[in-house]
Amino acid sequence: MYEFAVAPAVTNIRHRGAAVAEVAPVSLGAELELEPGDRITKVNGRPIRDYLDFRFHTAGETELVLDVRKHTGEHWELRIERSESEDFGLSFEQIIPRQCANECIFCFCKGNPERARPSLFVRDEDVRLSFLYGNYTTLTSITEDEMRRIIEQRLSPQYVSVHATNLDVRAYLLGIEKVRADIAPKLARLLDAGIEIHAQVVLCPGINDGEILRQTIADLAAEHPRITSVAIVPLGLTRYNVDTRLTPVTPDFCRQTIDEIIPIQGQFRKRLGTTFAFLGDEIYLRAGRSVPGRAHYGDYPQIEDGIGMVRAFDNDFAALLKRLERHPLGRPSKIQGTILTGTLFAPVLRQKIERLNIRCGTKLQVESVENNYFGGDVSVAGLLAGADLLAARDRIRGEFVIISKSMLKSDEEIMLDGMKLEDLRKQFKVPVHPVDIDSFAGLLFRYN
Ligand code: SF4
Repeated sequence: MYEFAVAPAVTNIRHRGAAVAEVAPVSLGAELELEPGDRITKVNGRPIRDYLDFRFHTAGETELVLDVRKHTGEHWELRIERSESEDFGLSFEQIIPRQCANECIFCFCKGNPERARPSLFVRDEDVRLSFLYGNYTTLTSITEDEMRRIIEQRLSPQYVSVHATNLDVRAYLLGIEKVRADIAPKLARLLDAGIEIHAQVVLCPGINDGEILRQTIADLAAEHPRITSVAIVPLGLTRYNVDTRLTPVTPDFCRQTIDEIIPIQGQFRKRLGTTFAFLGDEIYLRAGRSVPGRAHYGDYPQIEDGIGMVRAFDNDFAALLKRLERHPLGRPSKIQGTILTGTLFAPVLRQKIERLNIRCGTKLQVESVENNYFGGDVSVAGLLAGADLLAARDRIRGEFVIISKSMLKSDEEIMLDGMKLEDLRKQFKVPVHPVDIDSFAGLLFRYN
């Protein structure tokens, strides 16, 4: 399974061009008779590798020549005149990620059960996905072509897993030789070219904590504002990751980390006007401490990495309660159901749902679900598998079950263990609804 990881980073086999996935019905693309499956291979004579290239080479151009490889095999050359703002109405197939060439000691792929969803074994290391979705890369195997592309096409910001600025420690964590682990010249080149960087540290007790962490934060902060933020997230161990070099993160370790970082954050707020070094929500929850207030997170620069999600949820929930004050549910409300969530978030959510029950007369209960699929210290809702939810069936009360949308793949109704939502639903006696905070409100009105 890991053979590819010891070779230089590889690019999966790709067809030439950017493949059209959908064409909006009334659009320039439809007028040009483009269809799903067609591949745009050149724009004004320049080769197209993916839709980022297409976007870059068409931006602002009013006269275009497109080379298209039709899904039928024909070759078309399309000459187009359009207004600058006219959109093609095309969506493209997803980018196939490049794979990393590291052997990180904490790699999540090593912590997967053997039969986990294949996508969980993808070790993506792709600067395009970093730009598009905030995925982290290590920059260790970035090619000269990719470096130039980031700069030329302004693929900014980039999200970089630094882990430690101490080269020995970084090389050790990434499982590679020091010469490859050293990204200082690459980082400097990106920063000099005006590319914004967000950094990440996966905090491994006894390896990159304490003085190493303080030094890492200080080195990165020396580049602020060009480096905008650093996310410090805890190592997560499943029962399958049995590497003896790793020490599990404990509540005591989390408390100690918070106590060490609070003064540093305070200094940054005074000096830089931002908290800059953010601790993952999981660190606060596992420490049994409250997450910081709204002002701590600024504009939530690393929310996708689990930084400030609990605070943002708190704000959204308060807004929901206000909305329910303006448009009350019927009284007495007949809504009765069960919310299944991970053990980490359950106490926080329970408090909120109790407030909702008191205010609105609903009878919702929060049930905390153990993660047996991954085991270890995995406790977040988004990593619960179908089998974990099934194991909680006898605790269901009421007429429906709510789960978090984050338990499903973003583009498919399938859970981490490969169980389809429709199959999960068949095994519950009541309907199962995946929701986020917005659809949660809609669901309450539906059952009211
Ligand atoms: S943690 Fe990321 S960079 Fe490290 S080996 Fe796994 S996929 Fe590659």
